[in-house]
Amino acid sequence: MNSWLFVYEGFNPDEEGLREALCTLGNGYFATRGAGAETQADKVHYPGTYLAGGYNRLKTKIAGKVIENEDLVNLPNWLPLNFRPKGGKWFNLRDGEILSYRQELNLKEGVLVRKIRFRDTKGRETTMTNSRLVHMGDPHKAAQKLELTAENWSGQIEISGALDGRIINAGVERYKALNSKHLEPLETRASGDLIHLKTQTNQSELRIAISARTKLYSDGQLLSVVPRTMERKGYICHLFTAHLEEGEPLCAEKVISLHTSRDKGISECSLESEKDVQRTGSFDDLFRTHKLAWKHLWERFQIELDWTNPSDHDDHELILNLYTFHLLQTSSYYAMDMDVGVPSRGWHGEAYRGHIFWDELFIFPLLNLRIPEITRALLMYRYRRLSEAREAARQEGYQGAMYPWQSGSDGKEESQKIHLNPKSGRWIPDNSRLQRHVNAAIAYNIWHYYQVTNDMEFLSFYGAEMFLEIARFWGSIATYNSDHDRYEILGIMGPDEYHDSYPDSERPGLDNNSYTNIMAVWVLWRALEVLDLLPEDRRRALCDMLGLKPEEIEAWDYISRRMRLVFHEDGILTQFEGYEDLEEFDWEGYRKKYGDIHRLDRILEAEDDTPNRYKLSKQADVLMLFYLFSAEELEAIFQRLGYEFKPDLIPKTIDYYERRTSHGSTLSSVVHSWVLARSLRPGSWELFTKALESDVADVQGGTTPEGIHLGAMAGTVDLVQRCYTGLETRGDILWLNPQLPEYLRRLELRLCYRGHCIELELTPNRIQVSSHPTVARPVKIRVKDEIHLLAPGETKKVAV
Ligand code: BGC
Repeated sequence: MNSWLFVYEGFNPDEEGLREALCTLGNGYFATRGAGAETQADKVHYPGTYLAGGYNRLKTKIAGKVIENEDLVNLPNWLPLNFRPKGGKWFNLRDGEILSYRQELNLKEGVLVRKIRFRDTKGRETTMTNSRLVHMGDPHKAAQKLELTAENWSGQIEISGALDGRIINAGVERYKALNSKHLEPLETRASGDLIHLKTQTNQSELRIAISARTKLYSDGQLLSVVPRTMERKGYICHLFTAHLEEGEPLCAEKVISLHTSRDKGISECSLESEKDVQRTGSFDDLFRTHKLAWKHLWERFQIELDWTNPSDHDDHELILNLYTFHLLQTSSYYAMDMDVGVPSRGWHGEAYRGHIFWDELFIFPLLNLRIPEITRALLMYRYRRLSEAREAARQEGYQGAMYPWQSGSDGKEESQKIHLNPKSGRWIPDNSRLQRHVNAAIAYNIWHYYQVTNDMEFLSFYGAEMFLEIARFWGSIATYNSDHDRYEILGIMGPDEYHDSYPDSERPGLDNNSYTNIMAVWVLWRALEVLDLLPEDRRRALCDMLGLKPEEIEAWDYISRRMRLVFHEDGILTQFEGYEDLEEFDWEGYRKKYGDIHRLDRILEAEDDTPNRYKLSKQADVLMLFYLFSAEELEAIFQRLGYEFKPDLIPKTIDYYERRTSHGSTLSSVVHSWVLARSLRPGSWELFTKALESDVADVQGGTTPEGIHLGAMAGTVDLVQRCYTGLETRGDILWLNPQLPEYLRRLELRLCYRGHCIELELTPNRIQVSSHPTVARPVKIRVKDEIHLLAPGETKKVAV
């Protein structure tokens, strides 16, 4: 099996939405779903093109309230490229008979090819092949090549190439009651072989210009066919008439350039897209440079695996490549020059509206160790929204900066206030914004970016300011409880979104979520180190600007030693205070009754019940701690807090929550697989394969068509990158402590660490680390318990 070709044979209308999401092509600037060029939004197909960070806000009156949502806008459709025998029907998959159908996504080259042989209602058999790319080396360009061969007929045909701006957001069924018309047409124009469309979003005033050039070729020769133009409001099309001779392929190429009013280095977006497309060569010219851009990306990101029994794992490698592919299509080099974050569902669909969540935590480790400049740009997205986070903290009576659970254009809280339970049809309050732990994730990400890169410039001028303001927030949200002589964090939610309040309580939120409390301790403690690390003048300037006094820093130190942790009677670290008193859940009964019980929140709400009453979790909550910290680090935190860290705490806690988790988020299998990797290897492997399936098999039952799950995708690849290699970056050392799954004979990957480009090769009994020749200081590598100094150009081989 080729681990670079993601192939679908046969057309399956039920699976089309999933295929469209998984066959999305993008370059970090924009992305286009893998819908056929002949399709329009209907019950089967959903063509969608999204600009990174292309948001617009709309209000809707619903359930007696006016709510406002900021959506990721479905942009004008640049795909339409179709044909028909003169006087016949435009090609579509409903009429006539499909004789063969193959859709192939080439991950190495970033090209999507659909090859279809069909017989129309008049018995004419035709083969059409559509190849498509969204250029990885030039963010504004995309192209299609349509090749047509008449198998048993000859005759006149018409070919149409259009730009369609009459688009609304309709990609998510449960958002359908909400206003969805974001685009206003501004202009359509045709000149020579170009057509042009300009639209604008009706709130954010984002102007989008697309220019397209369609040309026909026969036998490699350009046909001089003068197109007719058809225009409607928000729509423009070029129509060509040509002769198709039996057995002689005819080819139509459509090349586009997409610019927006946000682009840098331009005068005006229409002018730019027209100029750009005029200067663009053929599909093949674009394909050549596009492939090259992908080649360079794969040189950095490819993971080579040798399996003990290769045929058992063919698709594993393919899926790992697919998931890396989608990460790079979402956040790529272009993110460096844009002001965007990394969306939890990619730019692949409209679910979660392109918002940025804590999922960065699962995504950054892959980017950090390959192209850390991208992480830096994504962290700058957070930095530019620091004042909004400060305002959010102030509004709630806290100090410092409180980042939102869902972030979009300007960094204000974008979480919905009410959401629809499709199972019951009811709109219910959404308290998910109480997940303040997103702030700890941002601080953790800043620290780990710094650990990998040693980028003091970033830390001094941006990272430290965010970090200290986040520490300040934790210092102010923690309240003193004199009964326990400890600090507590009350009224918040942990990562497990199934619990949002105590049963029968009117007050939203829960108290002393262990994950949140420990993360707060980590941030407060680490903030002291951040201050120590800063160059003296910068530290003084920053403390001055932030009004950060020694007393406040001492208070952080104190709180980080006196935070309260709550344990169950048998020593299990509680998910939140009071979890132990909840009822056990009837897992077996519900599995029998419903089959798929991932989304217990919806099931129980539809039964007029609530997950708040039960000991159950949507996803890893306490277990996140074992995902983010080594046992050593956790032990140090426990010691600092004055709690005993019993040796069996980790296995006992994993076992306890493992049995009570429904994995209602795709992130969950990644974390559970990780935490079991060293103790229960078969269980961990099973969860790894489940994580691999998350999107390709759409395990959440219908969510992937609305957008991929980027956190789970990147997190799954990161299991191979960091978990199986035992890779950690802490204390200025690169730690390696591999434990390959028994199925792996060899693992090879390339890492960026503090200016070094490192080739890492692992077998069950040997580690080889080679640094490419470069100008960088030697770095410390710790293999098992021994520290080695690695200079540029050096290779170390260590037996394990
Ligand atoms: C998960 C969150 C996640 C969000 C976006 C939710 O279903 O519970 O942890 O951040 O999806 O991916």
